[in-house]
Amino acid sequence: MSESCLFCRIVAKEIPVTYAYEDEQVVAFDDINQQAPIHILVIPKRHIRGAGALTAQDNDLVGHIFQVVNQLAVKNGVAATGYRIVTNNGDAAGQSVDHLHFHLLGGRDLGWPPG
Ligand code: 5GP
Ligand code: ZN
Repeated sequence: MSESCLFCRIVAKEIPVTYAYEDEQVVAFDDINQQAPIHILVIPKRHIRGAGALTAQDNDLVGHIFQVVNQLAVKNGVAATGYRIVTNNGDAAGQSVDHLHFHLLGGRDLGWPPG
């Protein structure tokens, strides 16, 4: 855990969030700044700086995260209509929290390309 990392503090339950899912490896919670009717963040409990810091050792974790995202899409009623999974990596992509997270967005038509 990084004391200065916002999402590590959420994992440690030091900051209240609306939980969507939790298990030994991941936590999912509503984004505080909802960009769509469904906007959930799925994060590993372990601090990983971002997608660009993933290694082969994380393959199972990433696969698991996608399973969780897909289950949340079903649970939140967007599996049939469609949804987007986004991870921003680095400044130019707009990553604002340096702890790996996947946005699950759905419940409206999502424009393309993203900004
Ligand atoms: P990024 O911009 O790094 O791709 O995504 C970070 C996301 O974290 C943003 O969508 C932002 O709204 C969300 N976020 C930042 N601080 C908090 C917080 O304290 N609680 C919750 N639930 N979401 C947060
Ligand atoms: Zn962290």
